[in-house]
Amino acid sequence: MPKLRQNIITGDWVVISPERAKRPEDFVVEKHEPKTQSKENCPFCPPDGTAYKTKIRGCETEHIYVIPNKFPAFVDQDEVIEEGGDFYSSYKSLGAHEVISLKDHDAEIPELSDDVLFELFDTYRQRMAYLQRNPVIEYIMAIHNFGAEAGASIDHPHSQFFASSIIPTYAGRELYGSRKFYKENKECVYCRLIQEERAAEIRIVAENSGFVAFTFFASRFPFEVWILPKKHSARYEIITKDELKKLIEVFSEIMKKLDSRLNHPPYNYFIHTAPAKIGHHSIYYHWHLEICPRLSKLGGYEIGSDVVIDVVSPESAAEFLRQTHE
Ligand SMILES: [Zn+2]
Ligand SMILES: [Zn+2]
Ligand SMILES: [Zn+2]
Repeated sequence: MPKLRQNIITGDWVVISPERAKRPEDFVVEKHEPKTQSKENCPFCPPDGTAYKTKIRGCETEHIYVIPNKFPAFVDQDEVIEEGGDFYSSYKSLGAHEVISLKDHDAEIPELSDDVLFELFDTYRQRMAYLQRNPVIEYIMAIHNFGAEAGASIDHPHSQFFASSIIPTYAGRELYGSRKFYKENKECVYCRLIQEERAAEIRIVAENSGFVAFTFFASRFPFEVWILPKKHSARYEIITKDELKKLIEVFSEIMKKLDSRLNHPPYNYFIHTAPAKIGHHSIYYHWHLEICPRLSKLGGYEIGSDVVIDVVSPESAAEFLRQTHE
């Protein structure tokens, strides 16, 4: 029986419609494509080290460097010029677009040690804190794509920072919804979500003293997992080193589970944090990380309606991920 479920934060609807013939096992990737780009023809590790020449100083660590994106979606310029005329809205796409590249071409997130993950997530924190100071920037999102089905056009492992002069639509819906929930209920919707999920237990996949990971009740993607800090905090970039270690423990466990249980699936993950110009977002917004394996494709109904049909129930996805790999 298909079920309509509503995202408690944004109000978005999804249809959870497990295909009768399919069980979670049926989504295990049969054969993953090997990397097609060798080190020799990789733009992030050329033999003469040209990619390193553009690196942003002060951001390099033992395993990571940060460079401006060669084909940026957002550019750093200091004036906002409207170009659209009376009817259309069009502006220069201002902000920043950076690449956080692992130095090791063959590294993959689920296989990284906690120390390297710490460097990566600490770099997210540092760059976010730095870019917040640019008055043009309204919103900063750290994302990571793995696999062609997840939109990764370069095999070399890298994350990206999108710092825009707008608040992106999805983040905007979360902000609006969480503010509304706070007004009506005098509590943070994400804090409540954590409470409800820990009480229900059925969607919990991993947990430690600082963080909890669960499949989301109104998931858009099969095996979609959210990681939230248990302590209320609107901003990722103020995370402490101790909290970062706890986050990495849970994140690494989830990435290893997804990788082994689903056989190396393509995925995206991203961090949702409060907008750069904080206002009083700190009361009702709660930063989090969403991990979206990309094992299903969007069809005409999804594109035409913005209502996604998820063919794996979040409860069976959680159960499947909790089992250890034989
Ligand atoms: Zn490379
Ligand atoms: Zn909260
Ligand atoms: Zn979110």
